[in-house]
Amino acid sequence: MNDYIHKVTSWLVEQYSEIYVEDLDVKEMVENSSSKTLRKHILHSDFSRFMSYLSYKASRAGRRVVKVNPKNTSKTCTECGYVKKDLTLSDRVFSCPKCGWVTDRDYNASLNTLRAGSGLPREPVDRKPLLYIPFSEGVYSKFPGRSRKSSPRGGDAPSVMAG
Ligand SMILES: [Zn+2]
Repeated sequence: MNDYIHKVTSWLVEQYSEIYVEDLDVKEMVENSSSKTLRKHILHSDFSRFMSYLSYKASRAGRRVVKVNPKNTSKTCTECGYVKKDLTLSDRVFSCPKCGWVTDRDYNASLNTLRAGSGLPREPVDRKPLLYIPFSEGVYSKFPGRSRKSSPRGGDAPSVMAG
């Protein structure tokens, strides 16, 4: 997991000059979570380590990491601003009852995070994702050794176990 976090944070810092992240309080999230499974997932996600590597590498490379208030980043429609209060963690697709915008829940949240931090207008250029690559796909294509699929070059990919 450590190695994986190193690779992902290096990749992010290489790709982007400004990185916007939700300012999540992991301790508070764990304490406020009523679900034992969710608490375990939050602790297991290594988010604090991810943030510390990201901040360190970004400052060394002269990149900017901007922490954004996480309130309603998932629940707000990035198209029209409607707040969908009944969105639950298991809803993986964001579907706006007001304007009809339907997209991946995390993509919607990432646009809100970007806009909250950068002050960019709400309106997407094409009113649809310009380039949408699922995060895992982007990372796996960059680091074939982490791919769940078998390596096309044979068995020489480094095996990295999660955790
Ligand atoms: Zn909407």
